[in-house]
Amino acid sequence: MANPNPPPVIVVGAGLAGLSAAYSALQAGSPSVRLLERAAKPGGNSIKASSGINGAPTKYQNAAKYGVDNSFWDDTVRSAGTRLNATVAEPIKKQRQGLISTLTTRSAAAIDFLVDLGVDLSVVAQLGGHSKPRTHRGAGKTPPGASIVTTLLAKLKDQGPDRFSLVTEAEVTKLLTSSSSPTTVTGVEYRNPQNADPAAAPPQTLHGPVVFTTGGFGGDTHGLLAQYRPDLSGLPSTNDPRPGAHAVLSAAGARLVDMESVQIHPTGFVDPASPQTPVKFLAAEMLRGEGGVLLVKGKRVVNELETREKVSGVIMGLTQAEEEEGEGGLRQWDVQLLLDPGATEAAAGHVGFYLWKGLLRKVKVSELDETTRETLREYAAVVRGEKEDAFGRVSFGHWRLGADGEFDEDAEVCVGRVTPIVHFTMGGAVFNEQAQILSSELGEEEKPIGGLWGAGEITGGIHGDNRLGGSSLLECVVYGRIAGEQAAKAALQARA
Ligand SMILES: Cc1cc2nc3c(=O)[nH]c(=O)nc-3n(C[C@H](O)[C@H](O)[C@H](O)COP(=O)(O)OP(=O)(O)OC[C@H]3O[C@@H](n4cnc5c(N)ncnc54)[C@H](O)[C@@H]3O)c2cc1C
Repeated sequence: MANPNPPPVIVVGAGLAGLSAAYSALQAGSPSVRLLERAAKPGGNSIKASSGINGAPTKYQNAAKYGVDNSFWDDTVRSAGTRLNATVAEPIKKQRQGLISTLTTRSAAAIDFLVDLGVDLSVVAQLGGHSKPRTHRGAGKTPPGASIVTTLLAKLKDQGPDRFSLVTEAEVTKLLTSSSSPTTVTGVEYRNPQNADPAAAPPQTLHGPVVFTTGGFGGDTHGLLAQYRPDLSGLPSTNDPRPGAHAVLSAAGARLVDMESVQIHPTGFVDPASPQTPVKFLAAEMLRGEGGVLLVKGKRVVNELETREKVSGVIMGLTQAEEEEGEGGLRQWDVQLLLDPGATEAAAGHVGFYLWKGLLRKVKVSELDETTRETLREYAAVVRGEKEDAFGRVSFGHWRLGADGEFDEDAEVCVGRVTPIVHFTMGGAVFNEQAQILSSELGEEEKPIGGLWGAGEITGGIHGDNRLGGSSLLECVVYGRIAGEQAAKAALQARA
């Protein structure tokens, strides 16, 4: 019999996974959703997403030009690498493949869900590792993360305060379990946001089914990152500097998987105005694709178009910048990204923003030091095809400085300091295709923790060694929707 007075669905973390879960729980009939967020504002790292969200096949993909897109599953499996290769035990493979299957087969519906809410996703690009263009974003200037998050938040607020409430500065510190069944979650304990000294205040409790969507640990550089990847400890990140909430799940019996799989990006901008800031802007890959080169003490050190892992590895093999060393400090390298006039023009949209932020600056070639000028002259000879690149670069984007044999010392180039950064954490809580958090290891007989669902970067097992660009926003929407629906069902069936 339906409960005449069902409990609220509790969602922990107001990034895209949490917002998708909250909206879907209400759509599925839950009378109310309580969304608890540790930060002062909702949006998490989701609001920063800049490339887009994957989906296939969708009406926005150009099937006439590229053919119908039925290779998303294959691309995702390939990207998962060693975590899904021939040597992996069958039950583990099955569970990983099931998670990927749900992700990819529900991807078109995820795009429709967002478009129906009013998000523009009409522009489709092809990112690295994808065999077809399938990463969707809007045609306007608002980046996809911001437009998706703000649209969902507005739709949730439209539901009215009785149905939806968001409490910010509310950190969930514990999952409550049933005294009769310790493997069933019955609610959460969180710190009182209203109190002047939240740390000293008695925690508050809230009862109902819980959807856990607290994101990854890329920004937890001296905490979980140091624990699972000591070699990466101290690296700055594109992610907010905040501790991971994984221990809250583990205390309720959740298992973690793939925690060592961490995605590094070779080029985060070091802001000269605040070089020690742990959170960095990404120097987008396309800056190198359009012709940018990387210089250390005026010399190139790598083929700039190698994989992220390779480029990061070469840089991190060099001596790091002296002034950044020290306990609790950041590990950073002194690498210059240099764009000639051709690359600057081709990347004009991005470059304008970076110049405005002070992350890139314009200088005349004649103002560069002699070693750098010599390197650029040699590089121009490679671009002209007169000699082979020592690092194997064969594609030069729109580089034109010296390409016609004239080395214009009056030409203006753009220069900015970059360093490798942590971008995404593939690992997280073991879960299943119904978005239930499990107390069993991956590949074991599934043991769902009652009353608990999860979605987004906090979960593990989908991406294996490497996440495809555009697939993290997607996992937030696909599994957030499933988690919200399932939690709503549980709330409606809960005993009065
Ligand atoms: C600069 C940048 C660009 C990116 N671009 C893309 C892209 O184009 N496409 C793509 O697919 N992915 C992209 N990503 C990755 C993607 O944005 C994230 O992986 C994804 O948005 C994570 O969403 P989430 O909802 O799981 O977590 P988040 O969005 O990080 O939200 C988690 C929320 O939980 C809160 N929280 C944490 N612990 C607690 C607690 N104990 N109690 C209460 N609240 C808590 C946090 O404060 C946070 O607000 C990008 C990431 C960055 C940083």
